[in-house]
Amino acid sequence: MAYTPSSTRYDSMTYNRCGNSGVLLPALSLGLWHNFGGVDDFKNARRIVRHAFDKGITHFDLANNYGPPPGSAEENFGAMLKKDFSGYLRDELIISSKAGYLMWPGPYGNWGSRKYLMASLDQSLQRMRLNYVDIFYSHRPDPDTPLEETMMALHDIVKSGKALYAGISNYPAAEAKRAFEILKQAGTPCLIHQPKYSMFERWVENGLLDVLEEYGVGCIPFSPLAQGLLTDRYLKGIPEDSRASKEHGFLKANEITPEKIGKIKKLNEIAQRRNQSLAQMALSWILKDKRVTTVLIGVSSTEQLDNNLACLANRQFSSAELSEIESILKG
Ligand code: NDP
Repeated sequence: MAYTPSSTRYDSMTYNRCGNSGVLLPALSLGLWHNFGGVDDFKNARRIVRHAFDKGITHFDLANNYGPPPGSAEENFGAMLKKDFSGYLRDELIISSKAGYLMWPGPYGNWGSRKYLMASLDQSLQRMRLNYVDIFYSHRPDPDTPLEETMMALHDIVKSGKALYAGISNYPAAEAKRAFEILKQAGTPCLIHQPKYSMFERWVENGLLDVLEEYGVGCIPFSPLAQGLLTDRYLKGIPEDSRASKEHGFLKANEITPEKIGKIKKLNEIAQRRNQSLAQMALSWILKDKRVTTVLIGVSSTEQLDNNLACLANRQFSSAELSEIESILKG
């Protein structure tokens, strides 16, 4: 069936300015790391992408290696773009990709060299059948490549028109600051930083968020639900269709410890009192910080997506709720 996007798609989403840039991003962005690869159900993946766009999610996050097999999420997304989003709809989308992790054998298919970043972006564009991506990221810092080389590759990519904006991911605060300086000097200010951030992963609070604010760079936390732990998914064991059950899933069953489940159950009680699902509370909790532009979620169904979108209805926390959450997390 041909896809006609919902005419009300912009009615209920909140759009936040990304740092000091001209770009507005939806409060929730959709990531295609899991559930969109060659091993997954294409029909379900396509249903999720269409549904996301119908609900105002204009930003789709990919990387060269998403799959499995690596590259297949970009291929699938390219097929969806061609089938469902061709023509003017491209101008309503922000599409991101990255390079930084192992993608092909030999010395030029990993990390942060100019050689790798340039070749990888060309491959990503081919897989997605695009002329350009909106945001291209250095996926992780490379301890052996000069930061100048990686950042100037991003700058030149933007100058070439193959990406409209540059981003970095997984860079600690001090390195991020140096990266922002290099990019600023070159004339391509960094648009956005993509760090891991959730109730269970708080490192960004120790300096990174301050640096982002200082440099006017946006923030898009990934794995805000700790890959599904901060939901009701694992409250009664490990469901068969969950990420933790899948061989290729990055969430391993041994990470779901009784101690973590104890905390999740207590957090779930607070969420219930707030008339929210735990997933909604975990997302609202991140979005309460104005330095966060958008939370980058993953979903395996349109039902999960709808559940998560409803977090926007309740983003206020009382100080009593916040301190109760802190004491559970510290406990
Ligand atoms: P989340 O923490 O949002 O976890 C997503 C998983 O949580 C889903 O696949 C689903 O698990 C479960 N889930 C989601 N919503 C609900 C709900 N309402 N109720 C119950 N369970 C729910 O994010 P991801 O770890 O998927 O990461 C998001 C994106 O971040 C990625 O797609 C990618 O784009 C990006 N990313 C970037 C990285 C980087 O290095 N820059 C690294 C990792 C991710 P299930 O599938 O079991 O149903």
